[in-house]
Amino acid sequence: MADTKIQCSRCGSSKRLTEYYNSYSPIHEYYGKTSICKKCIFDMVDEKDLRSIQAMLRMLDKPFIKSLWDASVVEADKQDRSHFRTYLKNVVMPQHKERLGMILTLTELKIAKMIILS
Ligand SMILES: [Zn+2]
Repeated sequence: MADTKIQCSRCGSSKRLTEYYNSYSPIHEYYGKTSICKKCIFDMVDEKDLRSIQAMLRMLDKPFIKSLWDASVVEADKQDRSHFRTYLKNVVMPQHKERLGMILTLTELKIAKMIILS
């Protein structure tokens, strides 16, 4: 698994698993990774715009948790790091898995509704 490379669905490059964020989404179940690489994520997001960040999180199937965001901003500022990168690092931690599962279920419900209504 260490040498496994997967293709980024945005830039098309084959990259090592470490170049992707962890994902607990059932649509990423096989590798447990997001479908686009870290570099593409940061290329696509405007880190100064919270709406851009929230839109990217939705694409990645990750929640925006206000308390975790605020904690990440404090942590990032102390180390002079990017707010968004710090938040992503924190939100993929296993202790948020249950919360992610709950939000996923809501997403699935919405999808199910869309299918029924279409
Ligand atoms: Zn990419």
